[in-house]
Amino acid sequence: MTRSLRISASLVCLAVVAATARPAGSADALPPVAIDPAVTAMLAGVSADRLRATDARLVAFGTRSAFSETMHASNRGVYAARDWIAGRFHDVASTSGGRMTVGIDTYFQDTDERSPRAVEISSVYATLRGDDPSAATYVMSSHYDSRNSDGYDAVLDAPGADDNGSAVAAVIEAARLMATRHFRGTLVFACFDGEEQGLWGSNHLAQRFKDEGVNVAADLNDDIIGASVGHDGEQAPFEVRLFSEALPAGVEVKRVNTIGTENDSPSRELARATQEVAEAYEPAMHVTLVSRADRFLRGGDQESFTAAGYPAVRFVEAHENFDHQHQNVRVENGIQYGDLLRYVDFAYLARVTQLNIATLATLALAPPTPVATMAVKTLGYDTTLAWDAEPAAAGYDVLWRRTTDATWTHAERLHAETTVTLPVSKDDYVFGVRAVDAAGHASVAAYPTPVR
Ligand SMILES: [Zn+2]
Repeated sequence: MTRSLRISASLVCLAVVAATARPAGSADALPPVAIDPAVTAMLAGVSADRLRATDARLVAFGTRSAFSETMHASNRGVYAARDWIAGRFHDVASTSGGRMTVGIDTYFQDTDERSPRAVEISSVYATLRGDDPSAATYVMSSHYDSRNSDGYDAVLDAPGADDNGSAVAAVIEAARLMATRHFRGTLVFACFDGEEQGLWGSNHLAQRFKDEGVNVAADLNDDIIGASVGHDGEQAPFEVRLFSEALPAGVEVKRVNTIGTENDSPSRELARATQEVAEAYEPAMHVTLVSRADRFLRGGDQESFTAAGYPAVRFVEAHENFDHQHQNVRVENGIQYGDLLRYVDFAYLARVTQLNIATLATLALAPPTPVATMAVKTLGYDTTLAWDAEPAAAGYDVLWRRTTDATWTHAERLHAETTVTLPVSKDDYVFGVRAVDAAGHASVAAYPTPVR
C-alpha cells in the first residue's frame, strides 16, 4: 500500500514537471491517426492467394524483358504480359461504375548507350476518376518488365517473381479493392515497361503527366516487395523500407542551407505521412524510412516522378537477396540463382500491399496539402504560421520537431483558424502544416515558405 502510494505521488510530480516544462516546444504528441472503417475493410480484402496467382501468371510468361516485345504469339514475353495485365485492369474497371479507364502508354525508344537496338516500350495503367475534379492524382506504381544476368537477353527465362511481379500483383490487388469505392482524388495504378533498361516507361508517363498538367500529389512506387528473408537468412517479415530523396530537382542549394529544408523535400514529407498512416493501420509492420532516393547508386521508377517535379517514394523489402535478382535461373556451387516464385512470401506481400492501400486511400480522401507560410518580418522567439483555408478541411495540424529529428514529434490541432503563433522558436525547430477532414484523413504536410 505504502509502495503504491509512493509511486502515485512520484507520477504526479512527473506530470507537474512535464506541464511546467512545456512551452519551449516539448508539448503535444501527434494526434493518433483516425482509423477509417472503409479503409480497414479494403485492407481486409487483400488476399495472399490472389497475389500468388497473379505473380505466378506473370512468371509463366517466361521472360518479360523489354526486348521480348515481339514474342507474344507464343504467349511469352513482355507484350503477352502487358496484354494480360490490361485484361485484369479491364476486369477491375468493369466494377467501377464507369469511373475507371485503362490506358496503354506506348512509345518508340530509340537506341542509346544502354540499348542495343530501338524498341517499343509500353506501360499499362488504370485511372480511377476522383469525385472532386479539382483534386490531385495519387499514383501507386510498379514495373512489369524483368531481366536476367544479361540485361538485353530476351530469350532465356527471366521470371521476375519478386522484381517485380510482386509489386505488379500488389498494384492489381489494390486496384481491385479500390475500384468500387469513392475517393476525393483520382487514383492511378501503373505497371511500367522498361524499368530495367533505365526507367524508360515511367519516365515517359511521368513526363506526359507533366506535359498534360496532371497534378500528381504522390507516387507510391513499389519495387521488390515480396521477400521476407535476406541473403544471409535474415528474417524480416514485419519490416519494409521506404526511400525518399533529399532535394527536388532544380533547388537552389544556398536557399536550402539558409532555411534548412534539406530534410523536408515534398518526397520526404510524403515518406513521413506514409510511415505514420501505414503503421497506424498495420501496427505489426515497421516502415523503416531511408533518407536516400533509392538504394546506394541504384534506382527506381519513383525517380521518374521526382524528375518530373512530383513527390515520390519507394517501398522495398528490408533485406534483399541479390542471388535472386537480375540472375539467370541456375544452380552454381550448390546455390540456386534466379528470381523464382518460391522465394516470395505472399503473406508478407499482402501486408506491404495493405500499407500501400492504407496510405493511398487516406491521401486520396484527405484535403490537399495546404499552402503555408511562416512570418519572418521581425526577429522573435515565437513562430507565426498562416495557411490558405481549404474548403475540404475541417481542421489543420501544425507539426514540429527538432531539426535533427527524422519525424514529427509535436502537433497542435486547430479548427477553423488559418493562422497561429506558437511559443516555439523557428530557429530550433522545423514546422509543417497539414489539412485534416471531418473524418480525420490528413494530408501530407507542407513546409511553410518564409515571408517578410
Ligand atoms: Zn525492379
